[in-house]
Amino acid sequence: MEFCPKCGAMILPSNGELKCNSCGEVIEIENKESFKISRKIKAEENVKMLGEDVDVLPTTTETCPECGHDKAVYKLLQTRSADEAPTRIFTCTKCKHTWRAYD
Ligand SMILES: [Zn+2]
Ligand SMILES: [Zn+2]
Repeated sequence: MEFCPKCGAMILPSNGELKCNSCGEVIEIENKESFKISRKIKAEENVKMLGEDVDVLPTTTETCPECGHDKAVYKLLQTRSADEAPTRIFTCTKCKHTWRAYD
């Protein structure tokens, strides 16, 4: 099942092409693979945006300055300037203390 990249309506294949019944957008079958890939990337981006929930964040070995626990989850905070490295924000899995990495 495909969805229209333009309006998001469900698209059913007909006569070897995918045409949106809602807005008339035609998706070439040859582009079907790249269309799928871009949709996959979008889904992954959505997961990252939901990263506020600590449970889904990646875990790393980092010592908590507050309680000394050696496991923390982290997320990357991209600064405005693209040539600067993203700042890592750690959250202790034990005491939930949050700190930044400066390196
Ligand atoms: Zn459409
Ligand atoms: Zn801690």
